[in-house]
Order: sequence, then structure tokens, then C-alpha cells
Amino acid sequence: MIYLDNGATSFHKPPQVRRAVLRAMDRCANPGRGGYGAAMEAAKTVLRCRERAGVLFDCEPEQVVLTSNCTHGLNIAIRTLVKPGSRVVISGFEHNAVTRPLYGLGARVTVAGRKLFDWEDTLSEFEKALKAGAEAAVFTHVSNVFGYILPVEEMAALCRQRGIPFIVDAAQSAGALPVSLKKLGADFIAMPGHKGLLGPQGTGLLLCGKLPEPLLLGGTGSESVRQDMPDFTPDRAEAGTLNVPGIAGLEAGMAWLQRMGIERIGKRERQVAEKCAGELKNMGMQVYWGPHQGGTVSFRPGCDCEEGARMLAEQGIAVRAGLHCAPLAHESAGTLDTGTVRISFGHDADFSRIPVLLRAVSKLPVPEL
Ligand code: PLP
Repeated sequence: MIYLDNGATSFHKPPQVRRAVLRAMDRCANPGRGGYGAAMEAAKTVLRCRERAGVLFDCEPEQVVLTSNCTHGLNIAIRTLVKPGSRVVISGFEHNAVTRPLYGLGARVTVAGRKLFDWEDTLSEFEKALKAGAEAAVFTHVSNVFGYILPVEEMAALCRQRGIPFIVDAAQSAGALPVSLKKLGADFIAMPGHKGLLGPQGTGLLLCGKLPEPLLLGGTGSESVRQDMPDFTPDRAEAGTLNVPGIAGLEAGMAWLQRMGIERIGKRERQVAEKCAGELKNMGMQVYWGPHQGGTVSFRPGCDCEEGARMLAEQGIAVRAGLHCAPLAHESAGTLDTGTVRISFGHDADFSRIPVLLRAVSKLPVPEL
């Protein structure tokens, strides 16, 4: 199988990740719950992961809350900043992991900037919406559907200038682009551990620029006598036993990335995606490609997208079709009715796979112009 669905989760992870998971299962008990060897080993494993994340994402280890996925982190962050009726500005490319919690809370949402690959539109519409009044902003770093890299540094600066708290969804950028909590000055940055960071599923990170409101209440192994949650990170947002084997694997994934270089990996993903997009265009497919694009390409063949992805799967190519849990992004791009076929490259992006992919795609009909 040629795996090109890294936007959903990374696969064929470095062998060090699997080894770390198994080692933790053999050696680790519950972290922070005892002073004996196996509990201490677990505590050290968890601390190593926070420290590694602190180095990669430019924050203190205590600012790193370990979550079970990116959605978990986004829910904590959104619940902290958004109250029923709050006015919240979001980009036109958000995932349901952002829009559903906002909808569920009864926030008043303004969608700002809907033109794909257009930084001028994204920034001017975002600024206009902030000026009209907002209690919070949430925006993705990279669109999971189209690979559009949003101008997050400039968007963050606009929020900071107006004192508007904000959350960055780094689901598709962590492990492919530089992400710095300090530089962005974000209140929260949420990311999965299982995509670009190469950890196992069931892992994620929430970087906290401010004290989060807990989503779950329960034991933390700290300040056990009090009946409210501790008022410090990470404990405040980490009730219950942590996924120590997953966290060990995540640490190993991040260590691998650090050795290889995130910028180098991201650059290769983008180069391979660009080549792929060009070839698909030459074949007559409708390709969504533009400036400011990462390692993900969406296209439309001349048949139903789900059917197209199924035909590719029969030829050993794993891609994802449909709306990719981001109907808003499809609405912005005008593809809500059809969806797209998404090819998303990852840490193992390789030019040598493109001819095999193209051979499979050439069996799909091309759209009529
Ligand atoms: N945000 C974006 C942009 C995503 O692409 C995804 C997953 O595809 C998520 C959030 C949710 O991530 P998770 O599945 O780790 O909860």
C-alpha cells in the first residue's frame, strides 16, 4: 500500500516509536501516583515528553498539557476562552473540531477570509472581523483539506494588538512547520500527537499560554486534599491516568523529528506535493493548488470523489475523499457539494511514489470543463 493519508494520521511511523511504546508497557506504572521504581519510571517518561515538546514548540515543560488528540485540546482551549454568546472570529478553513465546540457552546461565530491561498484576503477579512468586536479568535495553521498555510504570525499579531485571546489549531502543521508558543503569543495551541509528530493514536498536546479550565475533573496525584482542580498547569487539565505508553511513543516520534529536522521534512512534503499537483493538472484533473501550500493536495476527478478514492484503494493507494470533517473549508472553496479527493504527504514523502500514484489516478475519468 502507498499511504497518502497523513492528514488523518501518520502511518509507518519510525520503529523507535513502537519500541518506546513497548518499553513503557514493560516498565511503567502510574506516573505521579507512587515513589517506587515503576511509578518513577513513568513520571520520568512523561516529563521527557513535556521537555521534548517544550524544546520543539518553544515553551516551558509545565505549559504542555498531554491530551488524547487535537480535538481534546481544542475543547479545553475553547471552553476556557468562550462562553455562551461570546463573539468568536474563525477562519474560513476550520475543522469540525473547532466549529462544533463553538456551536455547542452557543458562541456567535464570524467566519472571516474564505479565499483559498490568498493571504491578503485572509488578513484583511480577519482584521475587519476583529475590529467589529470579538471576545476570542480561533484559527487553523494549515487547512486539512487544501493544505493552505494561513498567515498565522500576522493573524496572531492582529489579535495581540487588540488584546483578543486566541487559539491556534496546529493539527496539520506540528511536525511540518515551525510552531512557537512564545513567538505567536497564543493563549493556546492544540495539536495531535498522532499526525506529524509521529506518536501513537490517542495522543495530543495542548500548549498553554494561560491557565486552562479543566474539561474533566478528577485525580491528578497532586493537591489531593482539595476538591477543586489544582490551579496550575499541567495538572489542572490532566485528570485521570495518562496514556503513558502513548506518551512514550510520542516522545520517541518527536525525538526522531528533532534529529531529522522539522523544516527539512516539511520542505520535502511540500516539494513532493507540488510535483504531484502539477502532474495531476497535466492529466486534466481539477487541482486546488496555490501559493502558501503545504504537503496536502486536493483534486476532483470526473467521477464521484468517494468512488474515485475507492478505485485508488483497489490499486493500493490510500487517500481520503469527501468533506474531511471540514464542511466550512469546502464551503469556502465551493466544493461542499462534491467534496474532493485529498492526497496528504507525511514524514516519508518520496518523489518515487508519484509515478505509481499517477498510474492509478489515470484510470479515473477527468472532469469536463
Ligand atoms: N483540526 C484539524 C485542522 C484537523 O485536520 C484535525 C484532524 O484531522 C483535527 C483538528 C482533529 O484532530 P484529532 O483527530 O487528533 O482530534
